[in-house]
Amino acid sequence: MKYFPIFLATEGRRIVVSGGGEAALAKLRLLLKTEARLSVVANEVIPEIEDLAAQGRLTLIRRAMEPGDALCAALFYAANDDDTEDARVTRLAQADGALTNWVDNLEHSQFITPAIVDRDPVTVAIGTEGAAPVLARAIKADLEERLPASLGVLARVGKAFRSVAEALPMGRARRAFWSDYYFGAGPAAFDAAGEDALAETLDSLLAQHLGQTEQRGRVTFVGAGPGDPELLTLKARRALHEADVVIYDRLVTQEVLELARREALMIDAGKEGFGPSVAQSDIDALIVLHARAGAHIVRLKSGDPTVFGRLDEEMDACASADVPFSIIPGITSASAAVASIGQSLTKRDRNSSVRFVTGHDMKGYAEQDWRALAQPGQVAAIYMGKKSSRFVQGRLMMHGADASTPVTIVENASRRDQRAIGTTLATLPDAVTGLTGPALILLGLAPRAAETFAQTYEEEIAL
Ligand code: SAH
Repeated sequence: MKYFPIFLATEGRRIVVSGGGEAALAKLRLLLKTEARLSVVANEVIPEIEDLAAQGRLTLIRRAMEPGDALCAALFYAANDDDTEDARVTRLAQADGALTNWVDNLEHSQFITPAIVDRDPVTVAIGTEGAAPVLARAIKADLEERLPASLGVLARVGKAFRSVAEALPMGRARRAFWSDYYFGAGPAAFDAAGEDALAETLDSLLAQHLGQTEQRGRVTFVGAGPGDPELLTLKARRALHEADVVIYDRLVTQEVLELARREALMIDAGKEGFGPSVAQSDIDALIVLHARAGAHIVRLKSGDPTVFGRLDEEMDACASADVPFSIIPGITSASAAVASIGQSLTKRDRNSSVRFVTGHDMKGYAEQDWRALAQPGQVAAIYMGKKSSRFVQGRLMMHGADASTPVTIVENASRRDQRAIGTTLATLPDAVTGLTGPALILLGLAPRAAETFAQTYEEEIAL
């Protein structure tokens, strides 16, 4: 760490900016959020800075910088957009004892200003030591999206309530209270009735949490998506942040698992079609066991939990054990697969319905409405179809499907090793042999021909 991040107390302190143009104004906009006394030293200033001086928000010294101008200043910014002048004023300010920043000149700066996410009093500073401003901006955008705009107000009001909330036992109970406030009841009350509603919300929320004599476990069934962690919903990420226990399937990727709370207990329920597996009944029992112990369980299922995920059995297990549960949907692999080949699942004048089918079920190869699927123009997303591809091919041809019907197999959809294989019904079984990753078979669809499309998508994933 070449630069050490700190938060500087600015109340009553001086910050001096040399320069009167756009670069200076950009810094002033940030500095005006602080409680520092601001001085601008410049021969010429743009009208916006003049207005700020007229409003008394800063002191304008209308001349070139002189020795002593930065005396007693905590920070100094050289923002003249002129290397000779910036070098000169930086030397003067250093002689005056101020810490100096030369705007856009990392090498000659004693400190740098981070990218800032402002939810005052919650402030996030992001720095990359100048290595990747694009990355800093991306992280900033990501955080801005994730932190509700009302967070600052919530934090200010919440801070005053901290000692009252100590009525709750330390640890999970208190964490649950604050989490409810910051991400549930708080934002809801703020959106409905503004800041004034928060005090009352805190009171009733506390009463409610104190009333829960024993922490009740709960289960959130969460869609982990097809693999790319950026395809998780914000709700899924939040649930992972809050989980006490995460029970995950074999197809959930490492990148997604890494987003779980660090203290969470991670349990691999590696269920695998046709292969060695943890029995479904064992998974159901595991969920109930941890829920009864009061844990918040995140049951992570690949793709969307409602698609071929045996969700109903797990929900039934919760219901019969009186464990509350909810579902956070995810992006199913069929969606990721068609996106990867630049096609849609439905298309006007081609197919007005699409079927999600499974290659096998608990009894073996799964029977479908083959007659309907064999019609020209039909589209089906076949899950778990690798082992049953010959069976599917045979059934479809038997019902009159054209052997030249396009079929695309997408292996590892949304992952780095994603691969799309365009084939036809005639050669489907050969095309799946040797595939090792999870694969989705898109019946009735060929990959889009345009090269540019595939390339753009690959690059995005590589980022
Ligand atoms: N609930 C999941 C499906 C679980 S069944 C979902 O909504 O996607 C498991 C099957 O899903 C696999 O056999 C495979 O056909 C498909 N699958 C899951 N992840 C995939 C991926 N990243 N790429 C291609 N197919 C995938």
